[in-house]
Order: sequence, then structure tokens, then C-alpha cells
Amino acid sequence: MKTTSLYSTSGKLWKSIALTLPMFLLTFVFITGGKPDFSSSSAIFSFVVTFIFFNTLFFLMLYTGKTDRFRAIGFIAMALFFALVFIVNLVKMRGSMSFSNENLLSCEIPFCHIVTTMIIIPIVLTKSIIFPGSILTGFASIASMLVIVIGISLALGRGFCSWGCFYGGWDDGTSRILRRPVIKNVNPNWRWFSFAFLLIIALSAAITLTPTYCSWFCPFKTVTEYEKITNFDTLMKTIVFVSLFLSLVIILPVLTRKRIQCGTFCPMGALMSFTNKINPFEVTIDKEKCNDCKKCIRTCPTFSMVEPGLSKGRPEITCMKCGKCIDECSQNAISYHIRGTPSGKAFTAARTLFLYPAFTLLVVFAGGNIQYGIVLLIRFFSTGSFM
Ligand code: SF4
Ligand code: SF4
Repeated sequence: MKTTSLYSTSGKLWKSIALTLPMFLLTFVFITGGKPDFSSSSAIFSFVVTFIFFNTLFFLMLYTGKTDRFRAIGFIAMALFFALVFIVNLVKMRGSMSFSNENLLSCEIPFCHIVTTMIIIPIVLTKSIIFPGSILTGFASIASMLVIVIGISLALGRGFCSWGCFYGGWDDGTSRILRRPVIKNVNPNWRWFSFAFLLIIALSAAITLTPTYCSWFCPFKTVTEYEKITNFDTLMKTIVFVSLFLSLVIILPVLTRKRIQCGTFCPMGALMSFTNKINPFEVTIDKEKCNDCKKCIRTCPTFSMVEPGLSKGRPEITCMKCGKCIDECSQNAISYHIRGTPSGKAFTAARTLFLYPAFTLLVVFAGGNIQYGIVLLIRFFSTGSFM
């Protein structure tokens, strides 16, 4: 009996190592962008740390069978390092986090995926893009981000919100600070607010031909870039951005243990929910194994696991495929699943097939930022400056 158990443990170890090997190549390519920079000791050190970091996370996912706890480490690190690298780049480029009218007029504003929610109707109506960014060239061009958003939607659906969004790690992180929620029983119907908000944002952008969410509602302006405060209007906007960041990204997620910004407010999250219907991966519940403990409902940080979903055998359309409910279910009743394939043993293969594109997405968005972020931190601790 003992021999069998030792054999199966070592078999699992070797299988997990073998399945991690392709990720070695993918992380090397995506961290370095195909052009390794080994010109300084800090560049070599940051590459080695980032490479080991990602491959260890991927190996542990495979070896332990747990997804969310290792995903969250990479995802939260991405959000923090993205903000650091973005701000340092802006200060280098323009001298500050704020942008002026001249920057707007010369289309120097990086395009973020959330803008997608506002440009679609104006493109159809006016054949123009209402965002002051570069279409093809430079840092985060409009074309490159749109290609990425469409590709991810087809591959992972709303999985983007738990594996690729460089903002999502903020409330994913703050929602884990307390072990128990202070505010319990938040009505899960709040998740539909983001759909109403998406409609408001899309229509208001089409009427005013301006990106209204960016101008007035984006909490992440607080940790990226914002309009220079020159008058009452820009002062009000800044107050709104900071208030939304503090309430939706910090305070409410801490108190509820839910991803309030992503789960109830983000219009891009609502738009991505529809893409959950057109990609191969889904999360399903085996009703025969389920003992109705409802732990998954309490655990889901995005209000996507609700009573009707349990009886239907799948979460709501808003599921971000984070894997938290899967990790928590003591009956192994929940799993990643490929549409149209049988359940049961196919579960394990479906999870592995999901993890490759999902984790690669994390590496694509996080790899370069974490690597360069480490270089910046080394510079800061050795010279006292990020520049
Ligand atoms: S955690 Fe698992 S066993 Fe409990 S209700 Fe959810 S699916 Fe069923
Ligand atoms: S239903 Fe499960 S996988 Fe989907 S968002 Fe909720 S916890 Fe994550």
C-alpha cells in the first residue's frame, strides 16, 4: 500500500515536471520578448527570478491540483508591478503621472482594454476612433490591444479578468486581506449593475463622442495616469477617481472578501461576460458529487456561483474562471470543462488544457512588467531613485 502511494507520488511529480517543460519555453519567449537582455547583472538577476517565479507557480498548480492560490500570486504581482512600471515609464516620458492637453492632441495616451466598451458604437456610426491614442505604433497601440482582446475572448472568454487584466489583481489582492468578511450576505444581484453601467458608458460615449468612463469613472487612474488638475472640472474628476479606487478596489473588497470593482462595476468585465458563451472552456458542477454545502457560493469572489447555478450545473455568465470554487469544493464536484466533451476523467485533461493558454496569458501580460519592475526596485534600493 505504502509502495503504491510512494509510486503514485513520484509519478505525479515527474508528470508535473514534464508538463511544466513547455512552459519553460513559453516563459522564456514572453518574458524576454524573444530578445534577452543580459547586459547587466540586475537584468540577468531579474530574468532568473521572473523565470523561476512563473515556472514554480505553474508546476505547483499541476502538482497540487490547486489553481486559484497560485494564480492569485502571479495575478496580484502583475497588478502591483504593472502600476510601478507604468508610472515610472510615464514619468520618464512626460515628467509626471498627469497628462496635458498637448499629450491628448498628439495622441500619446496608451490604449487600455476597458476603452473597447466605448469605441464600438462610435466606430460604426462615425467610422472614427474616439480615443486619443496611436492606432498602430508605440506603447499600447489601439490595434494591438484590440487584437489581444479579441484573441483572448475567443480563447478564454471572461477568464481574461482573472488571468490577464493588469488591474484585476488589485481587488483580487485586497479581497484576501481578511480571513472572514466583515460585511456578509452581499446581494449577488449587484453583479448585474456592471451590465447596466456598460450600457450607460457605451451610450454616453456614443452621444458625446468622448471616452466617458476614462474621463469620469476609472478607479485605476489613481495608479496610472490622470488629467492634470488645472481647474474645478479636473479637480472633481480626480476626487471621483480616488474615491472610486478607495471604495471599490480597497475598502469594500477588504470588508466583503469579494472583487467588488471587477464583479459589480467594471464595464469591460460585463462585455467580456458575453464572450464566455463563445469559447471552449467553461466551469461545470457535477450534481451527483455535490453535497449542497454551498461553500462555492460563499467563496466565489465575483457573485457568479449562485443557487440557480448550482442546480443548473454551471456558474453564471459572469464567471471569471479563477478556480477558487474548484479549489474549495471538498467533493471535487467543480472543474474546468471543454464544451462538448464528456465529464468525469476528461476533467483533468480539460484543466491542463485550460491552464496552458490561461497561464501563458498571465506570463504575456505580467512577465515583462515583473522583470523590469525588479530591475527598477534594485535601482531604487541601490541609488534611491527609480530613474
Ligand atoms: S462547494 Fe462543492 S459540494 Fe459544496 S455546494 Fe459547491 S459544488 Fe456542491
Ligand atoms: S464561479 Fe468559481 S471559477 Fe467562476 S468566478 Fe466564481 S469562484 Fe471563480
